[in-house]
Amino acid sequence: MLFNPYFADLSNVYLFAEAENRLRAFLARTKPNNVIKMGIGDVTQPLCAAAVEAGKTAVEEMGKAESFRGYGPYRGYPFLIKSIAAYYKSRGISLDEDEIFISDGSKSDVAGFTDLFAKDNTVLLQDPVYPVYADANILHGRKIVYASATMENGFLPLPDERVKADIIYLCSPNNPTGAVYSAADLEQWVAYAKSMGAVILFDAAYEAFVTEDKKVRSIYEVRGADEVAVEFCSFSKTAGFTGVRCGYTVVPKKLANLNALWFRRQSAKSNGVSYVTQRMAEAALTNEGQKQTAAAREVYRKNAQVILQALRKTGVFHTGGVNAPYIWFKCGGSSWDFFDRLLNEVQVVGTPGVGFGRNGEGFFRLTAFNTYKNTVEAMRRIQSVLRA
Ligand code: PLP
Repeated sequence: MLFNPYFADLSNVYLFAEAENRLRAFLARTKPNNVIKMGIGDVTQPLCAAAVEAGKTAVEEMGKAESFRGYGPYRGYPFLIKSIAAYYKSRGISLDEDEIFISDGSKSDVAGFTDLFAKDNTVLLQDPVYPVYADANILHGRKIVYASATMENGFLPLPDERVKADIIYLCSPNNPTGAVYSAADLEQWVAYAKSMGAVILFDAAYEAFVTEDKKVRSIYEVRGADEVAVEFCSFSKTAGFTGVRCGYTVVPKKLANLNALWFRRQSAKSNGVSYVTQRMAEAALTNEGQKQTAAAREVYRKNAQVILQALRKTGVFHTGGVNAPYIWFKCGGSSWDFFDRLLNEVQVVGTPGVGFGRNGEGFFRLTAFNTYKNTVEAMRRIQSVLRA
């Protein structure tokens, strides 16, 4: 038996696992009872009532012989696919139902999609960005090049014709910087992908957080994007499904034969998502469900305002938090040192920017996914550190 040699190329620990290790060691050492977690991007608001009711009904159905269901369709149930198509339609985007694939979340899909491509492709990633894209491609042994996201370009790098790429991941709204591309920016990426014969893998996991009209929620708002782009979405952050698990991927049929390949790959490696989960996701997309999930996101939006106001008072550079649940600020020096300092001095956990890429060094990410009360208290403590 030989191991996959590319494991050696991964960094030793996953960012959030390392943060968790440090927190555990700190807790064992000092046993404080006042730690506030502003680190991992997990939601805190409960599931919306519409999803809860739909889940109960679906479980009841599964408990009766006449309505029991076993394995579902590989693409997902048509009722959920239709709801997703209608959700896009309400934003002016027409999709065929067989362009939509349901999954257990977009982490599986952004990573699993790499199965479709040969090893000899160059992958272009924003730096900093969600670490899963790099890890998944490193495990296939692919070459990765980076587009630097910096203060100078507003953390929104644009294509550079001199850089050759075959597979381009774009994350917008961005994790960790909270930056969001405009249609004009994405037009440039679509044109670049066309000129390279490349595919864009567009991660829109946070699309529902976009509040400004001029920012894009789907890459398909850009003309011609359906010839070059796949889009990944999730119910995790938009509807509080991080513990339920449901997402979806749009693979346009105009895009080479990726739609057929993804269907083949999913039928080879997955038996889909539970009926109960898909009924819950369908409920989250009803008018009532959307109103309820918007109310939960409003809690996070207010928390983000608290964070931004507090950072404004300290004078440190900060961004994000308007169209995204993440706030990105300049901590200076080593971002892991700042992580340790916040934890040890004021018992607040955040995420070191360098964990998202080399350009994240000297930066720090806070999430708006906490209670209002905890957010206010965490910012009081963080301000005291930043002013010291
Ligand atoms: N994409 C981005 C940019 C994320 O930040 C996350 C989760 O944090 C995911 C995808 C994964 O979401 P899911 O829970 O749907 O797997």
